[in-house]
Amino acid sequence: MRSPEGYEEIRSGVRALCAEFPDAYFREVDAQRAYPEAFVDALTKAGWLAALIPQEYGGSGLDLASASVIMEEINRAGGNSGACHGQMYVMNVLVRHGSEEQRRKYLTGIASGDLRMQSMAVTEPTTGTDTTKLKTTAVRKGDRYVVNGQKVWISRVQHSDLMLLLARTTPLAEVQRKSEGMSVFIVDLRESVGKGLTLRPIANMVNHETNELFFDNLEVPAENLIGVEGMGFKYILDGLNAERVLIAAECIGDGHWFVERATKYANERVVFDRPIGRNQGVQFPIAETFIEVEAASLMRFKACELYDAKKPCGAEANMAKLLAAKASWEAANVCLQTHGGFGFAADYDVERKFRETRLYQVAPISTNLILSYVAEHVLGLPRSF
Ligand SMILES: Cc1cc2nc3c(=O)[nH]c(=O)nc-3n(C[C@H](O)[C@H](O)[C@H](O)COP(=O)(O)OP(=O)(O)OC[C@H]3O[C@@H](n4cnc5c(N)ncnc54)[C@H](O)[C@@H]3O)c2cc1C
Repeated sequence: MRSPEGYEEIRSGVRALCAEFPDAYFREVDAQRAYPEAFVDALTKAGWLAALIPQEYGGSGLDLASASVIMEEINRAGGNSGACHGQMYVMNVLVRHGSEEQRRKYLTGIASGDLRMQSMAVTEPTTGTDTTKLKTTAVRKGDRYVVNGQKVWISRVQHSDLMLLLARTTPLAEVQRKSEGMSVFIVDLRESVGKGLTLRPIANMVNHETNELFFDNLEVPAENLIGVEGMGFKYILDGLNAERVLIAAECIGDGHWFVERATKYANERVVFDRPIGRNQGVQFPIAETFIEVEAASLMRFKACELYDAKKPCGAEANMAKLLAAKASWEAANVCLQTHGGFGFAADYDVERKFRETRLYQVAPISTNLILSYVAEHVLGLPRSF
C-alpha cells in the first residue's frame, strides 16, 4: 500500500469528473428523488466503479485503499456514493467465491458498464440484525431453486440488473451452527421482477432508492448459486470488511466536505462586525471535528493495509467504520450550527449532506453492533447474543 498521501492521481481524476456534477446537480436529483443516472454513467464509463474487478475481467484490479479513495472523493466533492457504492463491493462475493464461468459471464459485463450489480438482499423485516434467523427460503427443484420470503431495505434494485440474494437452503433446526445452511444466489432482476419478485419502494429520509422485496415462488437457475450450498453467510461476511472500509471512506469524504464548508462560511459570514470564525466558540468545534475525521482516515488506511495484505482486518474495518461515521455525523452537526439558519436552506446543501451522512450510524451496520463486535470478539467480553 502507498502512504496515505500517495493517491493524488486517483484523487485528482475523481475530482475532475465530480466537478462536472456540481452541488446544483445533486440538489436537483435530491429534490426530485431521482437516481443520479448521468453521474453513475460517467463514473462507470471512466472505469472508477470497476476498480476492484481484477484486470483479467476488464477491471482495473486496484487495491482496497485506492477504491476507498475513490468513494471518499465522491463524497468530499458533495456527491453521494450511496447511489453506486454497491457496484464497488457487491460483486466482491462473485470475485472471491464465484466459479470461473460465473466470473467470466458477469464480471466482464460489470467492468464494461453493460451490467450493473448494485444490490445485495440480506435484511428481513422480522429478523433485522439477527441475520442467521432469516426466513427467506430457496428450495432446490431439479435445475432451479424456488425462492419464497421477504426482504426489506434492499437498495438500488430498480437501477441494477443483478442482485445477490442470501436465503436459507437448510432449515435452521437442521444445521449444527446457525451460520450454516444459507446460500447466496445471483438473481437476474431483468428476468425476475414481475415473475415471482415484487418490489415496493420505501419512501425515506434520503434520496436513496430502497425497497421491500416479496418473493413468491421465484425460480432461480441452480447455476446461479455462488460457491457451495449452505456456505453463503460466510461468503457475505467475507465481503463485509471491504464494505465497512468503503463506507468509512464515504464518511471521511462527507466529514471533509462539512469541515471545508463550515470553514468557508465561518470566514465569510460577518456578525457583530467580524467573521464568526474569529470566535473560538465557532472555531474549536470545526477544528475538533477535523481532527476526528483525520484520525478516522488513518484507521481506514490501517484496515486497507491489512485487507490488501490478505490479513485479518475485522476489528480495524469495523473500528474505521465506527470512527468515520461518528466523525462525519459530528462534522455535520458542527457545519449546520456554523451556518445558523442558512444551514437549513436547501440551497446550501448542508441539510442534504446532513441527512445523507446520518444513515451511516445505522446502515449497513449499526453502531451498537460494531461496539458489540469489538467488545466480544476483540476484547473477549461475554457474548450477549
Ligand atoms: C437506507 C437504507 C438502505 C439499506 N440498504 C440495504 C441493502 O441494500 N441490503 C440489505 O440487506 N440491507 C440494507 N439496509 C438494512 C440495514 O443494513 C439495517 O437497517 C441495519 O443492519 C439495521 O437492521 P434493522 O434496521 O433491522 O435494525 P434492528 O436489527 O431492528 O435494530 C434496531 C436497533 O436496535 C439495535 N440493536 C439490535 N440488537 C441489539 C443488541 N443485541 N445490542 C444492542 N443494540 C441492538 C440496533 O443497533 C439498532 O440501532 C438498509 C437500511 C437503510 C436504512
